[in-house]
This record gives sequence, C-alpha cells and structure tokens, in this order.
Amino acid sequence: MRYPSLRDAELAGRRVFLRADLNVPLKNGRVADDTRIRGVVPTIRLLLDRGASVVVASHLGRPGGTRNPELSLAPVADRLEELLEMKVTFAPDCIGARVNTLRASMKPGDVLILENLRFHPEEKEGDEGFARQLAGNADIYVNDAFGTSHRAHASMVGVPGMLGGGYAGLLVQRELEIFDEMLSNPARPFTLVLGGAKVSDKIPVIDNLLPRLDHLLIGGGMAFTFMKEMGLEVGTSLLELDRLGAARKIMDDAGEMGVEVLLPADIVVAPSTDRCDQASTVPADSMPHQETGLDIGPGTVAAFGEVISGSSTVVWNGPMGVFEIPPFDSGTRGLASVMAEATEHGTFTVVGGGDSVRAVTEAGLEKRISFVSTGGGASLKLLQGEELPALAALKGART
Ligand code: AMP
Repeated sequence: MRYPSLRDAELAGRRVFLRADLNVPLKNGRVADDTRIRGVVPTIRLLLDRGASVVVASHLGRPGGTRNPELSLAPVADRLEELLEMKVTFAPDCIGARVNTLRASMKPGDVLILENLRFHPEEKEGDEGFARQLAGNADIYVNDAFGTSHRAHASMVGVPGMLGGGYAGLLVQRELEIFDEMLSNPARPFTLVLGGAKVSDKIPVIDNLLPRLDHLLIGGGMAFTFMKEMGLEVGTSLLELDRLGAARKIMDDAGEMGVEVLLPADIVVAPSTDRCDQASTVPADSMPHQETGLDIGPGTVAAFGEVISGSSTVVWNGPMGVFEIPPFDSGTRGLASVMAEATEHGTFTVVGGGDSVRAVTEAGLEKRISFVSTGGGASLKLLQGEELPALAALKGART
C-alpha cells in the first residue's frame, strides 16, 4: 500500500496539522516515559527544516470526552520544548477562538501543540464540524500516529478529508514499510506466533497469513480452544466453544498448505490467578480438570524457541499467558528472550500488539528486537490485510 510521502511534499511557508501519538504515561504531572515524544521529533524537525509551521495534535489517556486537568498535554509540551530545543507554544484547547488566534499568528518555524483532543466527545465520534474546526487554517495534513490509524476519529479521518488528503509522517512510513515487506515478500521460513485471550480476534490474521507461513505457533488463552478441538482436557481454562469449528478449519487448512502448527507442550496451571502459590507445570495432554491453564511451560518456550531460531522472519502478537500476574509472566518473558536471541543470529523479528510490546519493554528487550510496532490494533489490522481508515484518508494529497 503506497501513501503520499512527506519527502515529496511542498512545505515551505505551509501550515501543517500534524496528528501525533503523544499518549505517554504521566506521573506527578510530569512525563514518565518520553519514548513517543522522541518518536515524532524527526518528523517535526523535517517539517520545520523545510520551512513549515506545525500544529501538533494528540490524545492522551481516556478523558471520556470531558476536560480532565490530569490528562492535559501541558507536560508533553514542556518535554517537546526540551527535545526540540526551541519554544513550543501550548494551546489551552484544541479548538475555539483562542486557538484560532494562536494559529493565525504562527510563522514558518513555529510549533504549537494543542490540548488533548479527547476532551471533546466529537473527536471519537468523528464529528465533521469538529474536524473542520481542527483543520482550521492548515494547508497540509500529516499523520504520524500509527497506533490510532485504525480509528475513524475526527483528527484521523475527518481532518485529512477537509484538507484533500495528506501525508504519512516518518514514523508511520517506517511502520508501513516493515509490514509491507513482511506481508509481500517475507524471508522464509516465516513464522507467526500468536497468543492472547481470544481466538476470534486472531482468526482473520491467520486466514490472511496462512498461505505465506511455514510455522504457526499458538500460545496464550487462545491455545485451549485448539487443544479442546483436538480432544484434550483443558480444565477450567479460557475457551471459545463457538470457535471450535474455526480452530479445526485452521488446523486442516494448515495441514493442506504444509504449515506446521505448534501448540503448547506443557502448561502452567493453578486453581485461579490469585492462587499462584499452587501453580504447577503439567504436560499439555494431562491437564487436571479442576485447574486453569494460565501460561505456557518451559518445555513450550524451548520448542517455540527452536522454531523461532530456525526462522528467517518471525512476527509475534499476543502474550503467552496472564503475563500481568507473576509467575504467569514466565512464558511471555521467555518468548521475548528467545526472540531477542534469534534476532542476534540474523532472524528478522517483529513484535506487534500492545500487550506483547509491553512484555518486551518490561523485560528491557525492545532494542534487541528488529522492529517493535507502535500500534497494537493497527498492526493487527495490517496483518489481516486490511487498509487502515486513517491511511486511506491520506490518498489524493497533492504535492
Ligand atoms: P489479547 O488482547 O487477545 O492479545 O489478549 C491479551 C490478554 O490475554 C492479556 O490480558 C492476558 O492476560 C490474556 N491471556 C493470555 N493468556 C491467557 C490465559 N491462559 N488465560 C487467560 N487469559 C490469558
């Protein structure tokens, strides 16, 4: 999928509306992790170097459509000012007379950052009038918010609609290049690792990728639906009974296409998540019927690791267990390590998806993975072969 590139845009003297993803964690009124702010700096620099003025817009947290001072972007503006080493003006709202005055006085090289878009319910509703006000006096729209690009929100779809399309920022372009290459021309063997809670969420990804895969590794809660379909005891584990047929079809299709499907060989079980003192590891074919499977065991990590290290391309989405609660994070952490080791030996590794990214980051391994996507839902949609609505809205931009 090709979108208008910022490198081709005529920017001198133009006013740019830049939709960024500055949804960073805050602590005591300060930015606790500035990774996302750093991420958008190269795009802002490019725009400024080429003579544009830049209005930066973002959401932060879930204010639910009302003003919440705790979710103000003011601390983000302060940090952006430090990173850009220049004055950044902070607007007290994202629309309205005051903001319009600030926007009208901007000169090339100026940066204005708007207050949290989600203080207004119209942002998530994709409201047209709100989008028109956001577009304001801008000439050009740039999207550098990959993680929100699967959402048809006003700032994502409405504003480029008003401005006749737009451009992908440097961050979004990098995401698209990686997924494009991986989906159209993956170095083989190509392995997909899936986990997480629900089979239903991941079926479209499997359907889209299966013909290109060599191995499919399934862990997490979704594995139990497959195990059940194979006639195994799964105790009180997560189960989607209405997806047993889908699981069977995936295994049959994989067999016909010569794709090896690996399910957990051993499982960490406990009576429940709050009884971790009673956790034990059992072979996958002898799960006690009163217990819940909450993680993959070390044998599974080793078996998955062997396939991963023998692959040229690996994409991973979804945790291997209830990784929020130790010790049920061991499988996910083990998989993150295996991915990092394989990367060092030349495997191209991609981690897409909020929870798996969190697990990799918490383990301090994100720098040892080839590419860590900034968008969970958005990367899943790309893996499903779908076009993201906010990216479709960029088409038609004139240079
Ligand atoms: P998803 O959004 O589908 O990727 O699911 C992520 C969630 O799956 C996380 O919150 C995990 O706690 C949960 N999860 C992973 N493995 C299991 C499991 N064996 N049982 C219950 N929940 C699980």
